Amino acid sequence: MQTIRFDLAQLPPEAEALRLEVRGFLAEYGAHWTRSERARSWDGFDREFSQTIGARGWIGMTWPRQFGGGERSALERFVVLEEMLAAGAPVSAHWIADRQSGPLLLRYGSEEQKRTLLPRIALGELCFCIGLSEPDAGSDVAALHCVARESESGWVLNGTKIWTTNAQHADYMIALVRTDGEAKDRQKGLSQFLVPLSRPGVTVRPIADMTGENHFNEVVFEDVMLPSDALLGRRRAGWTQAMEELALERSGPERFLSSIQVLACLILRLEENPSEEGWENVGRLVAQLGTLRQMSLSVASMLAADGNPSLEACIVKDLGTGFEQQLPEIAHRMLGLDIGLGGDTDADNAIGHLLLMAPAFSLRGGTREILRGIIARGLGLR
Ligand SMILES: Cc1cc2nc3c(=O)[nH]c(=O)nc-3n(C[C@H](O)[C@H](O)[C@H](O)COP(=O)(O)OP(=O)(O)OC[C@H]3O[C@@H](n4cnc5c(N)ncnc54)[C@H](O)[C@@H]3O)c2cc1C
Repeated sequence: MQTIRFDLAQLPPEAEALRLEVRGFLAEYGAHWTRSERARSWDGFDREFSQTIGARGWIGMTWPRQFGGGERSALERFVVLEEMLAAGAPVSAHWIADRQSGPLLLRYGSEEQKRTLLPRIALGELCFCIGLSEPDAGSDVAALHCVARESESGWVLNGTKIWTTNAQHADYMIALVRTDGEAKDRQKGLSQFLVPLSRPGVTVRPIADMTGENHFNEVVFEDVMLPSDALLGRRRAGWTQAMEELALERSGPERFLSSIQVLACLILRLEENPSEEGWENVGRLVAQLGTLRQMSLSVASMLAADGNPSLEACIVKDLGTGFEQQLPEIAHRMLGLDIGLGGDTDADNAIGHLLLMAPAFSLRGGTREILRGIIARGLGLR
């Protein structure tokens, strides 16, 4: 049985110094970003922006220098993420690779994979996507049907992935597929592959979400030939590797800052038309935000100290995504907007976009029910 701890953590002086540098850069670079563009948050895709911040050393910050990293601390990285999200910078082109594909490669990749891919990720040149979900395997990922069979020259991949964020832009997918055994073997017999999406036999079909935009896709593999060295990590160890990868995406500031532009809009609106009730609402939201930030920082500092805060990370994601979902709802009620039909102002459009996006916040990266199941199991309650 695990216990839950959220020790108070503080950012070291070098992290606060870095914050000022990043904030100054974003104020200048993003001076023209509209509120609606900022509301795209970590869905905003701009390779040029990724390359600009890659050149500044703000991608792969904690990785070894030999692989293009900056050997900086996890808490310095935390500060860079916070500033990027608070400004609504278009980080999506490098986000997944920086957060999880890069660390996964660092841990399980071959020397060749690390040497050729990590420095390019750190420069913001490569976009990655995650191939876990399938049409009949979402929360229950182990029910997946994608299969890679060994051939004379390597592997042949067949099957369908779905809801794959950024597959329409990505250079590589890290896909979890079956290499051994049968469907009834579930977690056993799964392996991870590095799949270049430019290969013949790969079809990417965009899926529109409620906003009408295409963030995710269906990806079909038909006899896709992969070389032997496309296997990532150990054969049949894919399940463990993929679960470690998922743990990397649960507790960062992106789990409570996705709709932060709404709070900025509310404050600006209240400055124009002050109301006691409005300020009370904002006060409550800011108090919640401060608490969530402290919890997320606590997890980041445990990770920096090589701890295993897996339950705490699930709690941050569950509470944080609840907060992100609540913000546009509260703004909608307070401001009485006619959402979804196109607002009168940039701020209305930003809030409208986030109101339509909000249901997805507690689905991506594992649903609320699944997280609560993990927490309950960790605490010995089920
Ligand atoms: C914006 C967005 C981006 C995404 N990006 C990616 C991506 O890049 N790569 C990728 O692989 N996937 C991605 N996903 C997919 C996401 O991980 C799945 O949507 C999620 O895991 C849920 O799977 P599902 O949609 O099949 O729902 P289901 O698993 O069918 O669940 C339906 C409902 O049943 C509940 N439920 C299911 N099982 C249980 C259970 N055992 N106990 C209690 N309740 C349960 C769920 O909580 C949910 O409410 C993305 C999803 C979204 C919304």
